[in-house]
Amino acid sequence: MADCTTPSATHRGGLKRTLAGLGDWMGRSRRLIMGVQWAVIVIYAVLIVVPTLMPLPTNVDRIWTHVTIFAQFVFWGIWWPGVLLSMILFGRLWCGVLCPEGALSERASAWSLGRAVPRWVTWKGWPFVGFLGTTIYGQMISVYQYPAAVLVILGGSTVAAIATGLIWGRNKRVWCRHLCPVNGVFALVSKLAPVHYRVDRDAWDRWRKPADGHRTVVNCAPLVPLRTLEGNAQCHMCGRCSGFRNAIVLEHRPFNDEIANVAGREAKPWETALILIGLLGVAGGAFRWTGSSLFIDLKMWFAEMLLSFGADRLLDMVMPWWILTNYPENNDVMGVLDGVALLAFIGVEALLTGLVFAGGLALATRISGGWSSGRFHHLAQALIPISAIGVILGLSMTTVTLLRTNGFHPGFVDPLRAILLAGATLWSAWLSARIVAHYTASPSRRLFATGTMAILCGLAAVNWGTLFWSP
Ligand code: SF4
Repeated sequence: MADCTTPSATHRGGLKRTLAGLGDWMGRSRRLIMGVQWAVIVIYAVLIVVPTLMPLPTNVDRIWTHVTIFAQFVFWGIWWPGVLLSMILFGRLWCGVLCPEGALSERASAWSLGRAVPRWVTWKGWPFVGFLGTTIYGQMISVYQYPAAVLVILGGSTVAAIATGLIWGRNKRVWCRHLCPVNGVFALVSKLAPVHYRVDRDAWDRWRKPADGHRTVVNCAPLVPLRTLEGNAQCHMCGRCSGFRNAIVLEHRPFNDEIANVAGREAKPWETALILIGLLGVAGGAFRWTGSSLFIDLKMWFAEMLLSFGADRLLDMVMPWWILTNYPENNDVMGVLDGVALLAFIGVEALLTGLVFAGGLALATRISGGWSSGRFHHLAQALIPISAIGVILGLSMTTVTLLRTNGFHPGFVDPLRAILLAGATLWSAWLSARIVAHYTASPSRRLFATGTMAILCGLAAVNWGTLFWSP
């Protein structure tokens, strides 16, 4: 809690003035924002609960005739790609204004036990573990296809968010700050956004409480330390601090600013792991395994192993639907063998991707001036654009599949994918050049380090490209 005065967004012109005014307006519009949040909560609840009460769709059902297909299209075809895209454009505005889980967690924390947040909750590895866990578990129970799986994953996550709010903090979003499975990805992608809340430290320090003793408070729900706020990673863009101490203002900035100039100040190994292993590895594997011949080969290999060990019974063993997909009425059953092959496939892709990209980053780090773990992790951040666009395009596979099975065949999909991948590759390569320039003035070192990074960016693009265009 802290003191606050009336926002000052004056003396600015054009875009600057508009953004500052928008930030102030959001800060004054809590009731409206809460109304929007409740509307989203209702829509979200309907979309995850109602399909579980309906029979599964058949081949003749369409988006507009069956609520389950409609919910699939909304969640996986529009909602998730749209949320990630919004992170690139507006930072974590989604979290602060629209996210139902964040809103419910904050509302619940109004009745919280108010306990202090324990150390295990603040462990920095949760975003990595949470993303890997939900991504892999989602594949195991076919979350893109079945309403019960959606209810388990999204509903379970929502229940956990509410429970967190009821235990720790008061009027806070401890869940969002520390435990949300997509917090890490959102923190990474929002660094690209061309808008942010900037803190003028001099203005902050100069500020004195008004003589009339007028006091209001700023409750930063995701627990961002306002005076030292620098960057979008944890800010939910809610606007509540806009104008605070005449020092905080919503401003535009270059797309690359945060990664090039701020991200290198503190090495963040868990963020590097999330980029290399989580986004480029596990997410890629999760999008790829269903259509891969390697998955079939792995399955055959495991089957032969089991037979050679006399463990024939395991070949036909199945599990409940909430452990491995099990819908015999749809001829869709994943046996234990499929589950093991799935885990092995994603694990191998994550391991290989992690090793190749970590090796390339290490090489670029050495070329740009000797080994430095800080520089290694800073260079890893250059891969955020190509990782984020790859994940958005991977998610769009569901969008396109659903559109095609419902009779729409958009012809622009492949050219658009190629353009976005090429653009993201250039963006990551350009960011690499900016980061390398921070560490060495030598033209030859710059050239070779940036060249190494450019090759890595190209490799990432090719890896994503193989999802859509088979070699
Ligand atoms: S720093 Fe906190 S209060 Fe300010 S906009 Fe971000 S989330 Fe809201």
